[in-house]
Amino acid sequence: MLIEALSVIPEIFSPYLDASIMGRAQKSGVFEFAAHDLRNWTHDRHRTVDDAPFGGGPGMLMKPAPIFEALDDICSRGPMPHVVFFSPCGARFDQRHAERLATKERILCVCGRYEGIDERVYTLADDVFSIGDYVLTGGELAALVLIDSVVRLLPGALGDEASSVDESFSLESGLLEYAQYTRPSEYRGMGVPEVLLSGDHGRVDEWRRRNAIERTARWRPDLLDQADLDSDEWAFARSILRGELSD
Ligand code: SAM
Repeated sequence: MLIEALSVIPEIFSPYLDASIMGRAQKSGVFEFAAHDLRNWTHDRHRTVDDAPFGGGPGMLMKPAPIFEALDDICSRGPMPHVVFFSPCGARFDQRHAERLATKERILCVCGRYEGIDERVYTLADDVFSIGDYVLTGGELAALVLIDSVVRLLPGALGDEASSVDESFSLESGLLEYAQYTRPSEYRGMGVPEVLLSGDHGRVDEWRRRNAIERTARWRPDLLDQADLDSDEWAFARSILRGELSD
């Protein structure tokens, strides 16, 4: 997969994407990354990318021309990318979106700054995503969030192929992930569930499934409708929702 970003701060991406799992995934060819400086598609001495909004109001907006010209140019090089914009007004980005994007050959992330972008530019978007109900200073962090969540789904990105299947929100279960523990089995007076030390994989799987349902019912009951629960599991989830098993 080729992932690109268009930004006025292209240097912001490499400290994160060259480190750890993302860095190894690039080195081993799981994905390639390129950042483009939007100012390369300006034509004035000051390399201006913003202008005042029509109708007045605070701050500056990103002008349409540099973004349109950049996309004409970038998209003409190789296969047509899936073009993603970021905005607090976009669809809330989630794991289903990440799973859909992980099937694309090429993704181009267009990062807004200032007070936002001239609305006409969104005609270029295949997706517009928000990463949450708060306002960031720019789309670069949102792009990094998207890139990380997509790359870890690509074959070979994680050491253990199973590890992205089992996680919270995965299509497999639609539930939050179960609680996990590591050594020592006793720490500051806190133990771990005995079943996890039993070596009985059947019981461990059962406990994990039930624990995932319990945590989802407690913390994200909105996810339960999309989860694949049988009637006993629904009864258990409802007992949590009614507070019957509260600690
Ligand atoms: N004036 C805009 C509004 O109220 O919706 C906010 C603009 S914000 C300061 C500048 C840029 O940051 C946006 O164009 C977008 O690219 C990015 N951004 C800010 N918050 C975001 C969020 N929650 N999710 C995704 N991108 C965001």
